[in-house]
Amino acid sequence: MEHSEWQFGTKAIHAGVTPDPTTGAIMTPIYQTSTYVQEYPGKHHGYAYARGKNPTRDALQKSIAALENGKHCLCFSSGMGAIDAIVKLLKSGDEIITGNDLYGGTYRMFTKIFHPLGIHFHFIDLSDTANIEKYIHHNTKLIWIETPTNPTMQIIDIQAYSKIAKKYGLLLAVDNTFASPYLQNPLSLGADIVMHSVTKYLGGHSDVVMGALVMNNNELYEKLSFIHNSCGATPGPMDSFLVLRGIKTLHLRMERHCFNGRKTAEFLSQHNKVEKVYWPGLPNHPNYNIAKKQMKDFGGMVSFTLKTASLEKTFQLASSFRVFSLAESLGGVESLVNHPATMTHASIPKAEREKAGVTDNLLRLSIGVEDYQDLINDLSQALEKI
Ligand SMILES: *Cc1c(COP(=O)(O)O)cnc(C)c1O
Repeated sequence: MEHSEWQFGTKAIHAGVTPDPTTGAIMTPIYQTSTYVQEYPGKHHGYAYARGKNPTRDALQKSIAALENGKHCLCFSSGMGAIDAIVKLLKSGDEIITGNDLYGGTYRMFTKIFHPLGIHFHFIDLSDTANIEKYIHHNTKLIWIETPTNPTMQIIDIQAYSKIAKKYGLLLAVDNTFASPYLQNPLSLGADIVMHSVTKYLGGHSDVVMGALVMNNNELYEKLSFIHNSCGATPGPMDSFLVLRGIKTLHLRMERHCFNGRKTAEFLSQHNKVEKVYWPGLPNHPNYNIAKKQMKDFGGMVSFTLKTASLEKTFQLASSFRVFSLAESLGGVESLVNHPATMTHASIPKAEREKAGVTDNLLRLSIGVEDYQDLINDLSQALEKI
């Protein structure tokens, strides 16, 4: 049976992985080598030098491609490395349209690295699809979407933007990090490229930094492969092994992340010190219907603001947890709390940041897979202290 016919959990465990041909080892070996011996020049087993190709990475790329219903996958040494490769498809004078609520590192790369090289960016409100057409010019090449957005959990309608991208001959790339392939498959909704910070849910154990791109189009794959090998942000075999291992439980982890996410969002919604809760599974979330349409469930990322606007009180709360750890990143088995304004989003100017709802009294939670009652108790005792 082809893996394209399997359900998600079966793909997570089996896709891309075959017993090692030399020993029968059921787990993909870590091919810790930089080069491969050739019989005579150019005659080898398909592997010449490990920046270009490594069997452990090959298995991982097949696995992630299967999870995203894609034909090709390229893994990178970080999520930023993967985004960098996409922008390098463009040239000076080209334009990109993107949202105004982006991962801070993406915003930094766009404005500080690629803008000075001559690429123009429009950071717009993508919640209204009618908004975009006035920003499309003859040199517009790419629409870059993140959904759910970070940290205010806006949901952007992937299918609607794929129709616009097709109408104008633009590429549509989707940062699918927050949803993971378990919750959302942008290629199936019409996107051209899916990007992941594999560091997050795919790796799942806060022990690897990695990125990935998935696509169906062969020509696009050839171009990105060329950039991948030429620019060299490729991951090592040990990290590839760790992610292959992480992926085998992706479906189980995601079920618990979503369940705990719901419990946490419901608890915070009822709390008298909490002003606003951002979680797309709450029926009062402004994009609840789009989330329901394009996602399987609503995920484990929950943000909230406090009724007090005080930065001091917000810091006090962020430092009063016993189960949650105060740290950047997300998507691991353990619950984390993050203060976007001073941590993940510090590189965005204050005015820009606040326009996107990233105020000083906002905290973002990455809900782990612990027992939810312990998470609720922890939130409760920390909120009591302020
Ligand atoms: C973490 C993250 C990135 C960057 O990925 P790295 O693996 O840290 O380089 C990009 N987009 C989103 C949404 C992220 O959360």
